[in-house]
Amino acid sequence: MVKTDIIIIGAGPVGLFTVFEAGLLGLNCTLIDNLDKPGGQCAELYPEKPIYDIPGVPFQTAQEHVDALLEQIKPFDYELHLSERVDSIEEIEYEDDNFWKVKTTEEKEFFSKNIFIAAGAGSFEPRRPPNIEDPDKFLTNGVEYAVRSVDKYKDKNIFIFGGGDSALDWTVELSKIAKSICLVHRRDAFRGAQHTEELMRNLVKENKVNLLTPYLIDSIIGDKKVDSITLKNFETNEIESYEADELLFLFGLNKKLGPILDWNIDLNGKKIKVNTENYQTSKEGIFAVGDINDYPGKLDLILSGFHETTLAVQEAYKRIYPGERVPFGYTTSNSKLQEKLGVKK
Ligand SMILES: Cc1cc2nc3c(=O)[nH]c(=O)nc-3n(C[C@H](O)[C@H](O)[C@H](O)COP(=O)(O)OP(=O)(O)OC[C@H]3O[C@@H](n4cnc5c(N)ncnc54)[C@H](O)[C@@H]3O)c2cc1C
Repeated sequence: MVKTDIIIIGAGPVGLFTVFEAGLLGLNCTLIDNLDKPGGQCAELYPEKPIYDIPGVPFQTAQEHVDALLEQIKPFDYELHLSERVDSIEEIEYEDDNFWKVKTTEEKEFFSKNIFIAAGAGSFEPRRPPNIEDPDKFLTNGVEYAVRSVDKYKDKNIFIFGGGDSALDWTVELSKIAKSICLVHRRDAFRGAQHTEELMRNLVKENKVNLLTPYLIDSIIGDKKVDSITLKNFETNEIESYEADELLFLFGLNKKLGPILDWNIDLNGKKIKVNTENYQTSKEGIFAVGDINDYPGKLDLILSGFHETTLAVQEAYKRIYPGERVPFGYTTSNSKLQEKLGVKK
């Protein structure tokens, strides 16, 4: 069983930045994620979508953001365990002190004074089109639930299904390279950002996007690969056929808290309650940072999670070194960081 200063459940952007903040205070971390790569939602759901609201970074794709975070934490002491889920948390006694032990699906055990739950939306699964039997039989052969590579869509006949941010964002982005692109939604009202909806509607006026509402997917036709689809028009009940190469179903995620529900931590709906002084949960030494937590005024944004974990790491330090002052200083005067980066004085 491995002892570490902070166990981080979830290697999304907030989990990764926790390693940085912990590293500044000389703390080491163990990061665990059930995905096969770090980066959470950014890497899994929208790697090539632009992000514009990281302070000081006018533009970055989500994957570039993850890569930059990985670069930023390189100097620090952490282990990354991928493709395993933390299933249980248990309180244990070690050298007359209380610790937390976690166990993963790979039967690995780690223990620490501090657990950071940076589990985002929990273990998530994309929502499938409800009326199509086994759409996954075309998965990667014309059916996708996220854009993994923009290149795949070049010069293709694309159909995007959905009415939220992802559907609007990708309609606008992929219209730049598609042979043809159709946005299909069950009503002519969208839940996404107003600005992106305006961009999409302008593209419709310019005949660069075909907007089909109120429509619903009716069937997917093809042998091993998608060849065509039929859509049902809700108003007329007519079934229409279309040639199609790539279908993107962007209906959002089913958020599955999974094992987190069994950890006896106070929840608010599907999120973990925290106090905003140090982002500790109802259990001392268990913190929740990033999208997984809830408090009045919470915004599910990357930068909110960065703030939260910065404060939480201060409390984690105090739990490891009770009575000691938490070292505070700007990164330029942080000797540990300067030493690791090899900056000469
Ligand atoms: C389409 C889209 C566009 C977005 N655009 C922006 C944007 O432009 N700007 C912005 O600030 N935000 C944006 N967001 C929101 C942003 O992605 C989230 O705020 C951010 O990812 C939250 O980071 P996180 O580290 O808290 O969680 P996540 O990124 O969700 O990562 C959590 C990780 O925890 C892992 N996990 C969960 N449970 C377990 C477990 N039991 N064991 C092991 N691992 C576990 C998951 O696999 C996941 O990898 C967007 C979101 C979406 C869906």
